[in-house]
Amino acid sequence: MRKYLLPENGAFYKANLHCHSTVSDGRWTPEEIKERYMEKGYSVVAYTDHNIMYPHNGLCDESFVALNGVEFGVNNIVDGKPKNKFRKNCDLCMIALSSENIFQPCWNKEENVPASWDAAAAKIMDKHLAMCSFDESRPSFKMRYDPSVINAMIDEGRNCGFFVTHNHPTWSREEYSDYIKYENMHAMEIYNNDSASIGHDEHNAKIYDEQLKAGKRLYCIATDDNHNKPEKPDSFGGFTMIKAERLEYSTITDALLKGNFYASEGPIIESLYFEDGKVYISTAPAQAIFITKPGKNVAVKKAEENFIDNACFEIEDDDIYFFITVVGEDGKKGYTNAYFTEDLFGVLNISI
Ligand SMILES: [Zn+2]
Repeated sequence: MRKYLLPENGAFYKANLHCHSTVSDGRWTPEEIKERYMEKGYSVVAYTDHNIMYPHNGLCDESFVALNGVEFGVNNIVDGKPKNKFRKNCDLCMIALSSENIFQPCWNKEENVPASWDAAAAKIMDKHLAMCSFDESRPSFKMRYDPSVINAMIDEGRNCGFFVTHNHPTWSREEYSDYIKYENMHAMEIYNNDSASIGHDEHNAKIYDEQLKAGKRLYCIATDDNHNKPEKPDSFGGFTMIKAERLEYSTITDALLKGNFYASEGPIIESLYFEDGKVYISTAPAQAIFITKPGKNVAVKKAEENFIDNACFEIEDDDIYFFITVVGEDGKKGYTNAYFTEDLFGVLNISI
């Protein structure tokens, strides 16, 4: 029986799930971001300004969905110096699953301060923070760089109805011993264009694989994290293709929760399904398509002449999970989410 890993019906909507506008330290206004992303074929942008959950429902129309969100970051700087010599960060985006959810999660009632790394940005953010809505019934929330606090932030985000993502682990300079402690993320950034634009190798397939090997279930997304400073172009490099029945706030967030999307820096995936012990993928023209499985050699299908546009790989139930990487004609990569064999073979394994 054929099982569609990306839904058979519906349409793909191009999304940037991490961005910064003039509500915090970005240079483009929310309206400019909408206009410029729509020009490039995007239908969805998640506005995730630093520390400020500022609703943009007025930007939604029949051809564009503005998802409301916020990015929180904590680091190990104490009294101006990093603890244990090297600076580390942990940054999370929280995207509201409902357009009606306009309350900022993880509110520190006592301090109520925006990020202070940039005095000019802090001033702008102060103004917008004053316009946020807060749920008085939630406990006050002090954020700091500590795995138990970060896990509490993730839980608070989820409890308050947000899709929670782990951002740019390479830029954050975290190590395995740090990020492996994080639990219950919905997704991680397998690619972040802002980080890559300043020279970090923010291709995080290895970290994604490590998280999966440790038994975590999470999706992967590619984002821009754009700030649009003139000296550092960082838009239109990482995107997530979301497949949904139609373009509405709730159908898009429902597709996020179900994992009906793939992540890319360029390559296009057209279809993905599992049938009789094999996974089938079709793509736009590509150099190579390969599959990653834990504890096994990577299987590759490479273009012998010009390009390939499909591949088929055997899946065995002891593979535990797999994800597929597509290398485009220009060498850029696209990634499927991970799929788990217990889901694919579950019915077949019932003993009789
Ligand atoms: Zn960011």
